[in-house]
Amino acid sequence: MEIRLNNFVPDSDVDGPGRRASVFVQGCSIRCDGCATPWMWDENAGKSVDADVFVERILNIHGIEGVTFLGGEPFDQSEAVSYVAKAVRKKGLSVVTFTGRTIENIQETGSITDVDLLKNTDLLIDGPFIKTLADDSRPWVGSSNQRYIFLSYRYKALEPLLSGIANKLEIRIFPDGRVFANGLILTDDLKKFVMKLIN
Ligand code: SF4
Repeated sequence: MEIRLNNFVPDSDVDGPGRRASVFVQGCSIRCDGCATPWMWDENAGKSVDADVFVERILNIHGIEGVTFLGGEPFDQSEAVSYVAKAVRKKGLSVVTFTGRTIENIQETGSITDVDLLKNTDLLIDGPFIKTLADDSRPWVGSSNQRYIFLSYRYKALEPLLSGIANKLEIRIFPDGRVFANGLILTDDLKKFVMKLIN
């Protein structure tokens, strides 16, 4: 089985609770107006990776407490994503999954593998990005309709503490000059930050 990826960050602090491997899947059929990652929409872009090889790669990372699936739409390839989620969870890692669908839609109309992905997720962050509801006051989410749904007890204690978790931006500069920014920041704040860097 193969999983199609756009990007993989082995040790991120900005995509959910604690330090996590961030798995940016390639392909999104939801296509929200104002999506921050439209280059992850095309299901034929990115690259395919063998799911078992990928699981091994994740399990060899030291110091992470879990894996976050985002992108892209994880439920568009729920068979492969649930396979990876189940395997890493068996080894004690937690799973956070973002989706532009709602949990009700997945439960009512989803496939067996969609439901399987729900079963192998500790924290689901659901709902499409809605431009008119843009709001960065809560961690990891971009609009006020998006919800944190605790599907296991793993992060349940976090529920009343969410408002105290600040959004962060990570910037990685690679030796070949590539720059990768990950996290959540409003465009105006990002512009101010870049202006500070270049002045
Ligand atoms: S579901 Fe996520 S990746 Fe897909 S269009 Fe909406 S914000 Fe973008």
